[in-house]
Amino acid sequence: MKITIIGTGYVGLVSGVCYAELGHHVTCVDQDSDKITLLRNGGIPIYEPGLDAIVQTNVREGRLYFHDQLDQCIKDSEIIVIAVGTPSLPNGEADLQYIEQAVRDIANLIERYTIIAIKSTVPVGTNHKMNQLIEGITSVDFDIVSVPEFLREGTAVEDTLHPDRVVIGAENQRPAEVMTKLHEPLGAPIIVTDLRSAEMIKYASNAFLATKISFINEIANICEKVGANVSEVAYGMGLDHRIGAEFLKAGIGYGGSCFPKDTKALIQIAGNADYDFKLLKSVVEVNQMQRMNVINKLQRALGDLANKTIALWGLAFKPGTDDVRESPAIDIVKELLSRGAVVKVYDPVAMENFRQNVNDTRIVWTDDEWEAAKDSDAVCLLTEWNQFKKVDLRQLRDTLKQPILVDGRNVYTVEQVLDAGISYYPVGQQEIILQSIHHS
Ligand code: NAD
Repeated sequence: MKITIIGTGYVGLVSGVCYAELGHHVTCVDQDSDKITLLRNGGIPIYEPGLDAIVQTNVREGRLYFHDQLDQCIKDSEIIVIAVGTPSLPNGEADLQYIEQAVRDIANLIERYTIIAIKSTVPVGTNHKMNQLIEGITSVDFDIVSVPEFLREGTAVEDTLHPDRVVIGAENQRPAEVMTKLHEPLGAPIIVTDLRSAEMIKYASNAFLATKISFINEIANICEKVGANVSEVAYGMGLDHRIGAEFLKAGIGYGGSCFPKDTKALIQIAGNADYDFKLLKSVVEVNQMQRMNVINKLQRALGDLANKTIALWGLAFKPGTDDVRESPAIDIVKELLSRGAVVKVYDPVAMENFRQNVNDTRIVWTDDEWEAAKDSDAVCLLTEWNQFKKVDLRQLRDTLKQPILVDGRNVYTVEQVLDAGISYYPVGQQEIILQSIHHS
């Protein structure tokens, strides 16, 4: 099949290359011509494990193309996939300006029957609205389908080629059949449903996962007060197959380009329908508070944070990605700076993106985890990159000014830190406080 993808970001680029990998002829279009030039020159605009190899193969074999002009590639496309961003507006609602622009562009260009597949995460009812928008512009025959995306950054290629399920929202049989045929080779269950239910499956899934995270984080906070260990608790809970072990890891809360925006958007979707989604509002509030636990722990360990030097390991919202959108590190850095701390940061791949988001001259940018830790009063692990898990903790003790480790992701064991002689502040577990630390 001939497929055009509009929007060559995390979702569009990965989806496009994976459709090409299935043997289709795919053109990825983006209005950002720098991105397209980079891709045409063999570069990859995002960090995503395994992506460059599969892009190179499909370009070489003549199945994958990149363009910054939609009109050059749309005419003979059977399917046009929209994968543009839907960021949050200040009130939490999804900003649909990019979707609307893409839909208008398509409507002005199509000349024969085309399937328009919306992969971006959009509020319930958007596909119907876009249907009306196109009908107002062109008399050419078309169908709109909703194909929400469930990939996770960091494992995006694997997730796209081996999804848990494929959801297709369609109101007519013809596009439902074409989209089913397109996704059948992936071997996953395919759910064909109406447009509104498909849109809701995406939001409900993300809201549920966010709820699991905030739930275990609240359990962690209680564990700290009553002397239980949240890792043991989560393990004991997760073995129950009705609960499941995934997304039950206590930490500093979720971030990224999806959970924060999709939870807020679903609260708005509910509100617009006169429903107060109390549970999800609490999930969002708990998540915001959870980030500040790092600051509370530092304060317990060091007292006043003014003029204290704090090393932060990890800036990406999770390992395996350079994405820092809504990363807990952003709020943590800002809070530390506002309290007068000196902040030294390091992340293996997300430094540049972070610099673009939080460009504060007071931040000390370092070249590795050791340079960040050197002579710092404490180190905080914010993103559980493998290289941080493997550090020699005795060497860390000797590198720090004060042997204090705030583990925002619970990656070390009590035995490891005891052996190294480090004061340890994990999440939802007993803290280990050595006597040699000086408060000021
Ligand atoms: P992104 O910001 O990485 O990429 C969007 C791209 O669209 C940008 O490159 C932008 O230049 C381009 N664009 C915008 N308007 C355009 C237009 N009119 N014509 C051509 N290009 C245009 O976004 P993303 O992270 O890939 O997310 C895309 C959508 O997928 C969002 O709705 C998001 O919620 C959803 N989603 C994202 C993820 C994820 O992990 N990133 C997972 C599932 C779903």
